[in-house]
Amino acid sequence: MSEESNISESTSPAPSRHFIRQIIDRDLEAGKNNSQVITRFPPEPNGYLHIGHAKSICLNFGLAKEFGGRCHLRYDDTNPAAEDVEYVDAIEADVRWLGFEWGEHHYFASNYFEALYGYAEELIQKGKAYVCSLSADEFKEYRGVPTRPGKESPSRNRTVEENLDLFRRMRAGAFPDGAYVLRAKIDMASPNLHMRDPTLYRIKRIHHHRTGDEWCIYPMYDFAHCISDAVEGITHSICTLEFEVHRPLYDWILDQISIPCHPQQIEFARLNLTYTVMSKRRLLQLVREGHVQGWDDPRMPTLCGMRRRGYPAAAIRAFCETIGVTKYDSVTEMELLEYCVRQELNAKALRRIAVLDPLRVVITNFSDTEGINVQAINNPEDETAGKRPFPLTREIFIERADFAETPPPKYFRLSPGKSVRLRYAGFITCEDIEKDPETGEVIALHCRWDPPETKVKVKATIHWLAAPTAREAEVRLYERLFTVADPMEDKDKDFTDFLNPNALRTTTALIEPALSEAGAGESFQFERTGYFCVDTKDSQPGQPVFNQVVALKASK
Ligand code: ATP
Ligand code: MG
Repeated sequence: MSEESNISESTSPAPSRHFIRQIIDRDLEAGKNNSQVITRFPPEPNGYLHIGHAKSICLNFGLAKEFGGRCHLRYDDTNPAAEDVEYVDAIEADVRWLGFEWGEHHYFASNYFEALYGYAEELIQKGKAYVCSLSADEFKEYRGVPTRPGKESPSRNRTVEENLDLFRRMRAGAFPDGAYVLRAKIDMASPNLHMRDPTLYRIKRIHHHRTGDEWCIYPMYDFAHCISDAVEGITHSICTLEFEVHRPLYDWILDQISIPCHPQQIEFARLNLTYTVMSKRRLLQLVREGHVQGWDDPRMPTLCGMRRRGYPAAAIRAFCETIGVTKYDSVTEMELLEYCVRQELNAKALRRIAVLDPLRVVITNFSDTEGINVQAINNPEDETAGKRPFPLTREIFIERADFAETPPPKYFRLSPGKSVRLRYAGFITCEDIEKDPETGEVIALHCRWDPPETKVKVKATIHWLAAPTAREAEVRLYERLFTVADPMEDKDKDFTDFLNPNALRTTTALIEPALSEAGAGESFQFERTGYFCVDTKDSQPGQPVFNQVVALKASK
């Protein structure tokens, strides 16, 4: 067996029969929905997708694939105030990157504006909806609270004719914004506030990114969503838990109108991750206030940010499968996502050498022209990746942290008089230290070299780079975006108060020649340092900029 197959097993866990799979199993067994599985992913184009959306994407597209059905990509663009085509394009790129396809099933809720309007008139005709003239404040007051029934609006008993006339004039633009709303006529005493004659349409003169100024009334989410699902023949309408209380309304609307399809709404717990925020509104705030350099800043939990950072799509899919699907809210540790990223990169990323904080070492028993050639392994997890020549010369660079003038207890790397193994290339023993006469800073070490076959007792191996081969490169080191696991916890503070000032640090590192030709988006393991990916925005040919993807090991 190759290692490859072990790895792909560990990164793609066997699917668990979570409760949604069980529901679909039962539906298929009962021959429901003509034994079809049709799901949808319905983003609102008001921001970029984040890792929370990935959970929903993997679930909806994943189930469709698994059960031989299909998943629609539908933009829920019923609230034009915050929506933009920029987001539409970005969402498509992100879903494709995650590895999913919608084929011809690409829709906009705004495609259904005319149909939705027709269903609203149908509700009016059936005496199930009315035009209400309460002001916003009165509306709230009449609605009541969960423990106390609401009050019926004086508009509730308008005749069908009156309602139709008003609603048509609402559409025609006869009234100012907010003058009227269309409401469902359900039950002002319902313990569920969503059933207390909810608003179905409001007057809003806002330019829509697709329908322009054609409409001055827009449907509410609850009205548009269930009907869009039914129009498309969705079988399982999967959404997050906060919509559970909306389900009676979802069902009520579809029960009243003459549409032959009635999808089943199923709710699951949304993904929450430690050390990050996940609402588009807050992510937008981070962008607008300049806390990050854009939606695709590698510190962001957005899919474009993670992609740029170097998180493989396969790692995100494995993560989504690992966290599973449940009905209760919980918080997932960022470490789990990082673990999945590491697993994937460990299998695939080529090993390379970079010295992030260089300290010069002079090998005293080599002349300027002397040296040896060793072979460096490209990926110990993948024999087929082969080896590359790697010269050792009189001058090399090691990491500053791999030397200690006064070593603390249990420090096994280099210190005066002590030896260490050079990765692939024998041993060095520190014989002398060169210091800056003014600052006292160590600027070089003088070491004796011994070949690999020498019997030298050492407890550590360090990486190094031959000075004549070393090139400079910008390396961006990342920490978590926030200093606390839950930046929203302290209600007296703004979440931006917990931004980690060290989330990005930039340094000039020395890299081996094999790295300087690396292509944008390629990922590597810098030995002993971590995984790094060539930035897709700021790199130039022959001059890569590296983003740290993840550390080699989980920190405590
Ligand atoms: P946000 O709260 O970040 O603004 P949203 O729910 O308003 O997100 P939508 O564009 O409406 O964003 O979401 C599209 C789909 O993604 C919805 O079905 C929604 O339930 C799902 N989704 C959003 N956030 C998460 C999350 N954290 N975990 C799982 N699914 C999510
Ligand atoms: Mg939303």
